[in-house]
Amino acid sequence: MTTITISPSDTRPIRIGVSSCILGEEVRWNGGHARQRYVTDVLAPFVEYVPVCPEVEVGMGVPRPTVRLVRKGDAIHMVDPKNEVDWTAAMNRLSRERSSDLAHEDLCGFILKKDSPTCGMERVKVFHENGKGSFKDGQGLFAAALQQRMPYLPLEEDGRLNDPGLRENFVERVFAYRRLKDAFGPRWTVGDVVAFHTREKLLLRAHDEQRYRELGRLVADAKNVPRAAFRDHYMETYMEALKRRATVAKNTNVLQHMVGFLRRVDDEPGRKEMQEAIEDYRHGLVPLVVPTTLIRHLARRHGQDILLDSSYLSPHPKELMLRNHA
Ligand code: SF4
Repeated sequence: MTTITISPSDTRPIRIGVSSCILGEEVRWNGGHARQRYVTDVLAPFVEYVPVCPEVEVGMGVPRPTVRLVRKGDAIHMVDPKNEVDWTAAMNRLSRERSSDLAHEDLCGFILKKDSPTCGMERVKVFHENGKGSFKDGQGLFAAALQQRMPYLPLEEDGRLNDPGLRENFVERVFAYRRLKDAFGPRWTVGDVVAFHTREKLLLRAHDEQRYRELGRLVADAKNVPRAAFRDHYMETYMEALKRRATVAKNTNVLQHMVGFLRRVDDEPGRKEMQEAIEDYRHGLVPLVVPTTLIRHLARRHGQDILLDSSYLSPHPKELMLRNHA
């Protein structure tokens, strides 16, 4: 694994849970795998994976009969229809226990197998009890337990990582979650959170202006709110904000705001070049990496630490090239 960390003094790996079959492990019902090349070939050098196959761990074996989700009244069951075996209780128990274990694994994200009645994150097929018809409105039993145990943990499905925008959003949330967990370490202080919030402001604005403002009010009132309530409110709002996609329009606003920081420095040509790069980005002529690289150079040249410290300029390792798509 390449050593890519979020700060020079922090050498801990970024740990991501993953449905084992996505890594190429032959654990699927038919003895096959569902290897996802972005996960195994591109992201792998930068993170440490924690693989999990709940169906194997619960004792279904490989190969095994297929299971499906079935709605019985208000309840969702996991059923092997061929042999008429109901796995619901066993899978729910395993999922709860495994999620509790995983909560101590310092995970920063989880990549789940799409459509699986066990691992699927959303829109999983749920069959009618009479076997006639289905709705794609379910969630895999393990995925549901994981989300309940770790509500802020960034989740994504393998197939969605082929979309450059969704991929960037997920990886950004993974690294953001690590920074957030560090800010709320065992002995966090309001001062730590204020410093964290200052570094995250521009990134938040690029995703969700409304939640950015809500978090600002929350931080300003931090001393008047019970610690646990403040932490939970901040963490939830911060992670929800980052789920919203950073659009070209929102990024353009943030870049313009950053240029505003540089209005007093004696570098008219540098600012002009920056404005041109922002316009080119706004019109889809260059990717986001162009104006962000320029502004980083400009900020470094003029000692603008407030910009250099902003996580907006370095939300994830540049080697992943996530801001290089048009
Ligand atoms: S989807 Fe989940 S349960 Fe099914 S094979 Fe992959 S890891 Fe195992």
